[in-house]
Amino acid sequence: MSALKLPISLEFFPPKTPEGAEKLRVVRQTLYGLKPEFCSVTYGAGGSTQEGTFATVGAILSEGVAAASHFSCIGATKASVRAELATLKAMGVKRLVALRGDLPSGYGAGGEFHYASDLVAFIRAETGDDFHIEVAAYPEIHPQAKSPEADLQAFATKVKAGANSAITQYFYNSDAYFRFVDDAYKLGVDVPIVPGIMPITSSSQLLRFSDACGAEIPRWIRLRLQGYGDDIESIKAFGLEVVSDLCEQLINGGVPAIHFYTMNQSAATLSVLSALKSR
Ligand code: FAD
Repeated sequence: MSALKLPISLEFFPPKTPEGAEKLRVVRQTLYGLKPEFCSVTYGAGGSTQEGTFATVGAILSEGVAAASHFSCIGATKASVRAELATLKAMGVKRLVALRGDLPSGYGAGGEFHYASDLVAFIRAETGDDFHIEVAAYPEIHPQAKSPEADLQAFATKVKAGANSAITQYFYNSDAYFRFVDDAYKLGVDVPIVPGIMPITSSSQLLRFSDACGAEIPRWIRLRLQGYGDDIESIKAFGLEVVSDLCEQLINGGVPAIHFYTMNQSAATLSVLSALKSR
């Protein structure tokens, strides 16, 4: 349990270079002080970073910390998924984040899985209870959803296919999260839905990224960030206040845990947690 008295988990992406791997190793050692319940590692659709994902997951396990491998199925076949599950099991991985994923542009869809719910059902059928399965949730609605209702229903279907818990896309509006959780529970979802928190450390990167992934940056935050221009210190100070307030609202509202998108950095996550402790 973290000093917050709430379980926390941390997300990393696989580094591309040996220097990046060394930098991430140092970041992890710093963040392990938070006693994360687990650390997860993202996985590029189409297998583009599979090697890096598995290597990073293996490094975390060898450091004595529970690791979750993200696992996306778009473009995959049953045989390829079966083989990767066997590899992960042999490595000692016990937790997966099961996703549909997005193919890099230029790839045809193909594959034997259409939605994350197909992958969850397949993992359960193939491996029983060997893995704790997390799925993704979108309080502000997945960008490709036909409607908010259809998206919520798809989420409930995905959970009922065998997920143990969910992690949300990041958001800066706690009402969207609480409403999503209430609505999902009305549809019979009964697993923890853990908010995913993205600390704010830069302006242009966050604004660019959010457009594509179903996360909204509220107008007042966007305009304030744009107003700071290149003044990184002001962006960080403002971001810390916004994200700490958000976490406080979530904790007061009874969230089961908090998942941090660390972006392979330690400072922002540590600042948020220490700001919360001193409140
Ligand atoms: P799904 O749950 O399959 O949903 C995808 C879309 O299909 C939604 O619009 C949904 O409404 C719709 N849908 C679902 N089922 C049906 C159905 N039966 N009929 C009609 N429509 C349906 N991406 C990566 O590539 N690698 C990662 O490591 C990664 N990690 C992530 C971690 C988290 C916590 C989150 C929130 C997202 C992550 N993503 C990652 C992004 C994710 O892959 C994309 O958002 C992707 O577009 C959707 O994946 P999903 O698993 O949510 O898909």
